[in-house]
Amino acid sequence: IKQTYSFEVLCDFIHDKAKRLFDKYENAIKDGLTGLLNHKTFMDRAKQEIERARRFQHHLVFLIYDLDKFKRINDTLGHPYGDYVIGTTAKIIKDNVRSIDLVARYGGEEFAVVLVNTNTESAMMVAQRIVDNIADYNFNIDDKEVNMTISSGLSEYPNDSDTLSDLIQFADEGLYKTKDSGGNGVTIYHSIANKWCAFKRTYCFVILLTISSISIGNGEETNQKNIAIHHFMQGEFLLNQGNYALAVLEFQDALSIDPNASTIHVSIADG
Ligand code: GH3
Ligand code: MG
Ligand code: MG
Repeated sequence: IKQTYSFEVLCDFIHDKAKRLFDKYENAIKDGLTGLLNHKTFMDRAKQEIERARRFQHHLVFLIYDLDKFKRINDTLGHPYGDYVIGTTAKIIKDNVRSIDLVARYGGEEFAVVLVNTNTESAMMVAQRIVDNIADYNFNIDDKEVNMTISSGLSEYPNDSDTLSDLIQFADEGLYKTKDSGGNGVTIYHSIANKWCAFKRTYCFVILLTISSISIGNGEETNQKNIAIHHFMQGEFLLNQGNYALAVLEFQDALSIDPNASTIHVSIADG
């Protein structure tokens, strides 16, 4: 049987079908309460961002947020009020980042953020601004007013790690440090082990180069060599060490060097 439809009816039909498909897709990737990415989608997208950052040699910053003393809201003002606080917090976080950044509801009243193509220093301003905006916000329904604070932890790709699980774990460790010191703040993840790892990956090459280039010389140069070795043993960064600083700056993007290589051959144009 041939059926004839008017153009308008056909348009409505296609529109309905497309909307239903779109809603299905949205429900699958987003959290119902906040409209943010859900946990699983966040993990998938964050992995993709790491791949992209690796290819284009960008930095990424991971942030985990957890509302402070949230349980008391549910207990004293009820679950719907708690939902309202979670929804409003999500909006404040979203409004403080760019549309290309990832924002997810990571768990109950926990949020995860990936700031793309940025570094710790600029990300810290964003992270702190979110903390301040939450602290300044007057949550209010039916004249029931509360103030909240939020805690955060921050880790950076690739300086802290190049795997998603590490980056999340490190941001989480930062978060718990913030909680330990009373909440309402951001802690940048830096452990000794982590410093050493980033140091090896980024600067070790420079230090070897520096040491070998001054291995033959007069007393003064030998002295410099001892200083360099001393700092190497201490695992310190050589950023303020005159000549070494220059070398560090020149080579700090040399991430393609195998950090496990025992020998690195270098040729320098100027001898
Ligand atoms: P802390 O300062 O250590 O973070 O303490 P806290 O009270 O915030 O403790 P915790 O993070 O363990 O509390 C999470 C609570 O969030 C427990 C759970 O009942 C509540 N929660 C989780 N999901 C939802 C939700 O969708 N809506 C509401 N209203 N509450 C939720
Ligand atoms: Mg909490
Ligand atoms: Mg929590």
